[in-house]
Amino acid sequence: MIQHDIISKNISHIILISSYLIGQSTSGLNSDRLSSLMGIDLKDKTFNELEKIVVELGQQKYLAGYIFQFIHVKDVSEIPDITPLSKVFRTRLAERDYFISKIKTLEKQVDKDKTAKYLFELHDNEKIESVLLHDGRRNTLCVSTQAGCNMNCEFCATGKIKFKRNLSAGEIADQVITVEADAGKITNLVYMGMGEPLLNYENVIKSVEILNHKEGKNIGIRHITISTCGIVPMIEKLADEELHPRLAISLNAPEDALRSRIMPINNKYPLDKLIKAVQNYQNKTDQRVTFEYVMIKDLNDSARHAQMLIKLVRNISCNINLIELNPHPACIYKGSGSAAMKKFASMLNEANIETVIRFRMGREINAACGQLGADWLKKAKDSGSNGK
Ligand code: SF4
Repeated sequence: MIQHDIISKNISHIILISSYLIGQSTSGLNSDRLSSLMGIDLKDKTFNELEKIVVELGQQKYLAGYIFQFIHVKDVSEIPDITPLSKVFRTRLAERDYFISKIKTLEKQVDKDKTAKYLFELHDNEKIESVLLHDGRRNTLCVSTQAGCNMNCEFCATGKIKFKRNLSAGEIADQVITVEADAGKITNLVYMGMGEPLLNYENVIKSVEILNHKEGKNIGIRHITISTCGIVPMIEKLADEELHPRLAISLNAPEDALRSRIMPINNKYPLDKLIKAVQNYQNKTDQRVTFEYVMIKDLNDSARHAQMLIKLVRNISCNINLIELNPHPACIYKGSGSAAMKKFASMLNEANIETVIRFRMGREINAACGQLGADWLKKAKDSGSNGK
């Protein structure tokens, strides 16, 4: 009976959404608007929010724990399957338009090095990717935070895909839930997939709270990294949050002229402002910061660039990841090659800056940093469209 009620409710939601979408393209719709059309997604709620919902519905507070665990640990996506709740309560949740969202796995590709790329479809047919990297005992999942991205970094395939919308906290958390159910415990999380996390600030922070919660995935806050291209006011806001994930800055150039050329966000938030925001984050959180530096042949890989980089980060406790450029159909640049990368790294190491070279993982399946969406771009290119 409960199941039947939910099915008929979902059908009416689908009709409602369809009629809405016929009149308006999904472009520019945000996740909250779509979510309000579908009902209230329990996966999108923090533990504390669930407690409030449960109490408002006249139930005992502790029942929120069952809802949270069944969604985030047992990967349940139907309210009737949360069996510790009474039938009456489950029916009431469905009657009040509560539901549990579920992203759909369209494809999984696995590289020789075991890197796995997942293609997911969201409820409004938007597509996103997540990448699972195996590194010794660590399983690191790289999650997307937006469908598309409007930051337009020149070397990045995702930047060529038009921004569609922000992901909800539930959709971000669901990438972890779904991959973990398929591939085992996720130990580390990086917000480094499609999209700029700090432009979807509220949902990203909420997802961190959900994924860090001890009753759910319980991923340690020091094992969660948010990577940004440099949205300065949001880095400052992040420094004042209760939870402090690790911060990574996608730097890629040590001087303004070059950085503005390959990362247009630098025109708005140039390096002096970015570095000040990073120092502020470090002062408030006492955390080491990571700078990511994609190495591009004859563009940012000379000894002069290494010297400038050393000068730029000298007052920050940091490590630098040198990343091999990942070619994709829309990229005009070439990677620096391993000899140039090693030379660059040795200059940084000599200046006592901890530096790691990250060669491409998942190269056979276009799963490396800056490549997400590269498959769609290639298909769009082959079919003569511009990928947007
Ligand atoms: S590097 Fe990140 S911020 Fe820049 S276009 Fe790609 S996804 Fe967007």
